[in-house]
Amino acid sequence: MPDFHPFIAGLPKAELHVHHVGSASPRIVAELAARHPGCRVPADPEALAEYFTFTDFAHFIDVYLTVVDLIRTPEDVRLLTYEVARDMARQNIRYAELTITPFSSTRRGIDEKAFMAAIEDARTAAERELGVVLRWCFDIPGEAGLEAAEETTRLALDLRPEGLVSFGLGGPEIGVPRPQFKPYFDRARAAGLHSVPHAGETTGPGTIWDALNELGAERIGHGTSAPRDPRLLEHLAEHRIALEVCPTSNIATRAVAELDRHPIREMAAAGVPVTVNSDDPPMFGTDLNTEYAVAARLLGLDERGIAQLARDAVEASFLDPAGKARLTAEIDAYTDAWLRG
Ligand SMILES: [Zn+2]
Repeated sequence: MPDFHPFIAGLPKAELHVHHVGSASPRIVAELAARHPGCRVPADPEALAEYFTFTDFAHFIDVYLTVVDLIRTPEDVRLLTYEVARDMARQNIRYAELTITPFSSTRRGIDEKAFMAAIEDARTAAERELGVVLRWCFDIPGEAGLEAAEETTRLALDLRPEGLVSFGLGGPEIGVPRPQFKPYFDRARAAGLHSVPHAGETTGPGTIWDALNELGAERIGHGTSAPRDPRLLEHLAEHRIALEVCPTSNIATRAVAELDRHPIREMAAAGVPVTVNSDDPPMFGTDLNTEYAVAARLLGLDERGIAQLARDAVEASFLDPAGKARLTAEIDAYTDAWLRG
């Protein structure tokens, strides 16, 4: 098997499923911890690397929450957002739709207007200084129920930051049926936001049908269980509804038992648009480049096939047509130059 890492590392890419707090790398966490002496997280990078070595999923949640606890001021929000973009720039990610859960921050007392100003300031600086175009997906933390849904919808529609393009739903699926969120998605969609709920990660294809029929999903977060329903695969392929596949995350959360049995093959074979993403990269010990290498192995792709994955992500994104054409041309130019040697 050839080593595609150098090709992937330089390939211009778009990422469509990646979480804000979940992208806090040990380097970023160390910076945040240094701003808040006395917190539970070690500020020294070496101790922090150890802290980020998860023993099990409960430990992961525990660490995730301690990182959430480090985001206390609008300056913390700005720092996190900008530094996430810096980590993206290093991987040649040119465009990302970053999933943000504003409810977690406003509930913890961060002023909502200051929060929006902080992410927008980071977004414009990242585009200007790092060449990374960021857009936002505001998601409802499903476990927090309808109160969180109402608040997230209000924040999205009343304060609507310029970079906001989509509306999502995260958190656990078991015990959190999708249809109850229909009124909130209806309002968000009526206001022009795209619908991108998580579905079918830890539950069956029925949840994905609910996301499509009740929430108007235009892409599906994960959709891991889709191949269990051939009619669903057909529907996704026919309507060009992309799945946001996150292979390493699926193993870490046990949504999929082992990488070699990941359903990405069946998805692609059925003609469903597949995009490759990293979800909560440092927390799962991965990054987008690693996920591309994993997908290339699972799908048996060469450089052209890998470049097509990058093109498919651009196509499935909510970037404007001119932006899509520009990024696709960059992908093609890079690939042609690489293959010419
Ligand atoms: Zn996710």
